[in-house]
Amino acid sequence: MAEPARIPPDTRSGAFDAHHPPSTDLVNECVHCGFCLATCPTYALWGEEMDSPRGRIYLMKLGLEGQVRLDPTFVNHMDNCLGCMACMTACPSGVKYDKLIEATRAQIERNYNRPVPDGLLRRVIFDIFPRPERLRLLLGPLRMYERSGLQSLMRRSGVLKLLPASLRVMENLTPSAPRKTNCAVLPERMEAQGERRLRVGLLLGCVQRVFFPEVNAATARVLAAEGCEVVIPRDQCCCGALMIHAGEEKVALDYARRTIDAFERVRVDTVVINAAGCGSNLKDYGYLLRDDPKYIERAKAFSAKCRDISEVLAGLEPRAPRHPIPLKVAYHDSCHLQHAQGVRTQPRAVLGKIPELQILETAEAALCCGSAGIYNLVRPGPAKELGDRKVRNVLATAPDIVASGNPGCLLQLRTGIRLVGSQVPVVHMVEVVDASIRGVAAESLLKR
Ligand code: SF4
Ligand code: SF4
Repeated sequence: MAEPARIPPDTRSGAFDAHHPPSTDLVNECVHCGFCLATCPTYALWGEEMDSPRGRIYLMKLGLEGQVRLDPTFVNHMDNCLGCMACMTACPSGVKYDKLIEATRAQIERNYNRPVPDGLLRRVIFDIFPRPERLRLLLGPLRMYERSGLQSLMRRSGVLKLLPASLRVMENLTPSAPRKTNCAVLPERMEAQGERRLRVGLLLGCVQRVFFPEVNAATARVLAAEGCEVVIPRDQCCCGALMIHAGEEKVALDYARRTIDAFERVRVDTVVINAAGCGSNLKDYGYLLRDDPKYIERAKAFSAKCRDISEVLAGLEPRAPRHPIPLKVAYHDSCHLQHAQGVRTQPRAVLGKIPELQILETAEAALCCGSAGIYNLVRPGPAKELGDRKVRNVLATAPDIVASGNPGCLLQLRTGIRLVGSQVPVVHMVEVVDASIRGVAAESLLKR
């Protein structure tokens, strides 16, 4: 991975270098009212002002004024933030916290030397997770680990407790290895059923295409059944979401350019995303590539075409008949859908079209489940506390199944639900729609 450019110290802005420090204008928009505090997961956990949105914005202001440095205390408060953007939904002044934390994190990655174990863990994550071909190499050993019985032995014996927290969390979160990879299942193009209503491109996602190929397959089937011609560019890469949310700006922008190139070549009306973290990143390309004269206009045009699968389906009058699914589904809002993209009603509207499906609302729905990109790997303690809290709230509704719209949330909820000894399945919401259109028995969803 390329080294980020170091900015000469004489061009610094307080504690920050001159390359997009957090904007003073945006910082000054915070009027310190505190309306955001109640929805901030880290404030809910610790009640610490500097771990609230208002406190973090104040720290950024002190950084801009040169009153604090990018030292371990500053970095710790920024690292504690999940980037869930619940504060943006709550803020009456419209403070763009997403732009502030993104700029601050990029500054930290360029100008702060992380302790070796932390830096190494991040390198491993960024060298593997955005690379489906590397993730796929893990599938063979993972299958052996599961099928040899070693996994259940390790989990029962308590040996895992001896591992460092991050490795323990990784083991717990690792999903079952699917039998087939997505590229082997999905063609490059799927015909629309009936008269074509849209030509759409499908973003496969990195973790999604390797560990949840059934979600991508369900998405493509549902779109085709609803009259969309589906194009799946073979040369699509990671969209850069994990990296941009963690401050790895240069690599993230390279991925953004390659993603735009891949989808421009296939000329689609809409780019469909079924992973909320990827969706919020793609919709922001116009901003992220603002310094690149070759890409800025193309990036804006690309972002304007991006839609979550629930937005696409909510915008199309259902054409494919829905069969009844007599189940109770607890719908979990992913933060990057509800807060970052403002998509709350569409998934419910889409699920609401399924006969006999009962949608259950959970308590504290605005609160993050603790997954948050790489957060549950680099901050396993608070991530688990939030995960346990979310699982308690979800299971309190007594659902038959749980549905969500983001692979990170699916992993976090599946793990948390398994660890409390429950067998309630967690699926992507599009899998429920797919099962309804295909007339699959409700029991098949219960066997996930
Ligand atoms: S993004 Fe989430 S964790 Fe971070 S300050 Fe806002 S509400 Fe708190
Ligand atoms: S709600 Fe908005 S204006 Fe009020 S303290 Fe939070 S970020 Fe600042």
